[in-house]
Amino acid sequence: MAKKIVVIPGDGIGEEITNAAVLVLKKISDKFQLDLTFESHAAGGTAYDLYGTPLPEKTILAAKAADAVLFGAVGGAVWDNVDPALRPEKAILGLRKSLGLYANLRPIKVMDCLVEYSPLKKEIVSGIDIVIVRELIGGIYFGDKCESEMKDGFERAWDLENYSVPEVERIVKLAMEIAQKRNHKVTSVDKANVLATSRLWRRTAAKVAASYPDVKTNDMYVDNCAMQLAIHPTEFDVIVTGNLFGDILSDEAAVLGGSIGLMPSASIGECTSLYEPIHGSAPDIAGRGIANPIGTILSAAMLLRHSFSAEIAALAIEKAVEKALLDGYRTIDLYRDGFKKANTEEMTQAILDRI
Ligand code: NAD
Repeated sequence: MAKKIVVIPGDGIGEEITNAAVLVLKKISDKFQLDLTFESHAAGGTAYDLYGTPLPEKTILAAKAADAVLFGAVGGAVWDNVDPALRPEKAILGLRKSLGLYANLRPIKVMDCLVEYSPLKKEIVSGIDIVIVRELIGGIYFGDKCESEMKDGFERAWDLENYSVPEVERIVKLAMEIAQKRNHKVTSVDKANVLATSRLWRRTAAKVAASYPDVKTNDMYVDNCAMQLAIHPTEFDVIVTGNLFGDILSDEAAVLGGSIGLMPSASIGECTSLYEPIHGSAPDIAGRGIANPIGTILSAAMLLRHSFSAEIAALAIEKAVEKALLDGYRTIDLYRDGFKKANTEEMTQAILDRI
């Protein structure tokens, strides 16, 4: 049966990188007879310019009706002065809420041929293979907040962190299931020595873990986890944590791979899931055809794996990316003397040729 992918290019380099990923998905669809179909929809600043809103209702409805969403990136200085409620970035937050995207998955791998691009020493990063599972629609980012109030003669602001047991159970279960397909190890990260929400998180994680005896589980404070990611990153398999800690730890872990342009992500939803590279719209290089498409192409591989259970097709993409890099192709963010300098189109072609 045909599977519909809604493509939301967004702004900046979004169009260039999603075009590249769609070419790869089309080739994979033919090769593995997946019968994928594509439908493009607007979001972000581009949608604001066209429709006066960063997330048109039509885009939300199309995303909900799709089998998966491939997202580029949104944002740019052009829209810096629009009403904050209509900023391009509201599109991604709105899609997370509308699609119930409760979990963000970020695989962090360092390919052998790219080890020297990591800011850490080769012997520390060699062999890293981590998945960070971040809770995405709860916690302090979505709690009540007050921008400004007067108390005891001083202006103050506050944000409320809150988690319920079902919210924690859902994300920890997902982390356990992911670990079962990997190295059977989950690290649950919190700040239980200080925060009440973290103590509830820790109690709930322990109860969920009891149902997964084949998964080795440990708790870790977030400050220690930040440190361990820099000194013993290969010790981790799956990390599960809340929205705020996950935001920070996943960006820290992402730089271990050497370039932000390489990193994919998946946001798992109650209905449709969404796949996007971790970087933004890179307005500084937009329109020049030089963006690294690999983060988006690897996001397409995650799409095949998680939304369509097409593991072999996903692996075919991942292997083709690795082969293109091994054969020396490098986009501007990774280019060094002695390698083959490739623009977006040339890197995409190098990957297509290796599928
Ligand atoms: P960015 O990730 O867009 O760019 C940071 C740096 O990395 C830039 O120098 C850029 O050229 C480079 N870069 C990023 N992706 C690249 C790629 N694929 N290939 C080569 N180089 C790449 O972050 P920023 O500059 O802080 O943000 C730009 C805009 O993107 C802002 O409006 C921000 O709000 C938005 N943003 C959107 C998302 C999203 O849509 N999910 C995420 C992050 C930032």
